[in-house]
Amino acid sequence: MALGFFIVNFAPSKPNYFVMKCTLCEGEDLITFKGIDGVAFYRCNHCFLIFKSPDVWLRPEDEKERYQQHNNSEDCPGYVEFLNQALEPTLPFMEEDMEGMDFGCGPNPVLARMVEKTGCQCSFYDPHFFPELPDERQDFIFATECFEHFFNPHQELKLLTALLRPSGTLTIMTNLWNEDDPVENWWYTKDPTHVTFFHSKTIDYICSRYGYDIEYSDDRKVIVLRKRVVR
Ligand SMILES: [Zn+2]
Repeated sequence: MALGFFIVNFAPSKPNYFVMKCTLCEGEDLITFKGIDGVAFYRCNHCFLIFKSPDVWLRPEDEKERYQQHNNSEDCPGYVEFLNQALEPTLPFMEEDMEGMDFGCGPNPVLARMVEKTGCQCSFYDPHFFPELPDERQDFIFATECFEHFFNPHQELKLLTALLRPSGTLTIMTNLWNEDDPVENWWYTKDPTHVTFFHSKTIDYICSRYGYDIEYSDDRKVIVLRKRVVR
């Protein structure tokens, strides 16, 4: 009888834990640490992605409200200059009449209008404000100020890659983390909508997994990738 009691009480009925996995590579070799405001972060030892604990991710309605507060327009020279940091290194890969997209444009697609001035067409997409995706694959995609907002970077990269035609370019603008700037008190992590942070090695991982080559990188925040042609 005693043995029976022992078995009933210690036999695992259902797991009461779950394994945190990297939101990009799904690896389980993660280091956890505390950052600004005591927020828990994870760093993946495989792809070097850093992401905030899902406990602090904002609800979609709160996220949208914050984005509405950051409604920059082309009347703001500082903002145009900021977006030019992504546009200028991409111009050598753009030709007149190409079709591209401003992915994650927010409430005001300023970059799309800047691109149209170069003679290319530019549609725009944002899950909160313009949720309709184009039917056609794109010659180029800009993803400025959006990779750091991705809750599920793997899903987003699958989507971006599907939206891009072979040899199309993907311009990413997001501040990369590096070992010289401790992430524990990095200002860029303070914004509650910033949840995911990439290292230059994460960009290398993205290239090998999703099939890209690096055309340009300033090693800090602007990267232009070209989708490989699969033969
Ligand atoms: Zn990873």
